Amino acid sequence: MSYEGYQQCLCTNGHYWTVDCYDHSRNDLCPDCGSPIAWENGVDLTNGSDPNDPSSMPVELEVATPAVVADLSVALDKLLNLIQPSPVDREAFLKLCIPKRLSEATYRVPKNQGRRSSL
Ligand SMILES: [Zn+2]
Repeated sequence: MSYEGYQQCLCTNGHYWTVDCYDHSRNDLCPDCGSPIAWENGVDLTNGSDPNDPSSMPVELEVATPAVVADLSVALDKLLNLIQPSPVDREAFLKLCIPKRLSEATYRVPKNQGRRSSL
């Protein structure tokens, strides 16, 4: 059976992403901020996920700063009730108001698990 799995990655700013083990397009730079990898950990899924086999389970990361999400839905709802737009306009306003991630969460580099980059 061939190897299956992925790499967990953290950049020097603590952003998290994963790369499939067969994704050879990886360039080791953070997709969010372009910084180099500070830490990575291979998750071996060749035989599936098994809680009794730590190498098949992702390392649980400690959040350093949570993601910042802009959610204006409550304020927009109040505004729409005031201005009473047509149903079509109301729909258009609501589409503008889908919560947006302003910044991604960052995580602390685990001390005892995974591999630290030599950077
Ligand atoms: Zn980053």
